[in-house]
Amino acid sequence: MQATSNDIIFGRCRIILPWPDWESSTHDEESQIPRQGRAMTYPFSFIINKNAKTARFSSTSELPYYDTTLSVCDCFDFQERGLPCKHIYRLAVELGVIEIVNRASKEFSIKGSKRQRPQKIWIVTQIS
Ligand SMILES: [Zn+2]
Repeated sequence: MQATSNDIIFGRCRIILPWPDWESSTHDEESQIPRQGRAMTYPFSFIINKNAKTARFSSTSELPYYDTTLSVCDCFDFQERGLPCKHIYRLAVELGVIEIVNRASKEFSIKGSKRQRPQKIWIVTQIS
């Protein structure tokens, strides 16, 4: 049985489509995980251009908008760190490249391998 890409999770990112702009291990870094969460919870509005794979995010902060692609973003966070920001993650979600999943524990996230499923626990009762 072959593991499909649907089973690969880095940080909170379930990789659905190839995302060659970043090493998958980038998403597994501790500092990236809060950004993956904020991608889904931050109150921004945005316009997605699915053909160009770009987005324009309006934020509640002082700047009017950020232009975002799967590899770069105008926002301060990206300019400062050069790593995917919440805008990039949200764009990736909207384009169907990744899914943000509930945070898995360290043991649960096995790099590059098939995600383990919870095991069924059978309770056997002895009847005398
Ligand atoms: Zn950004």
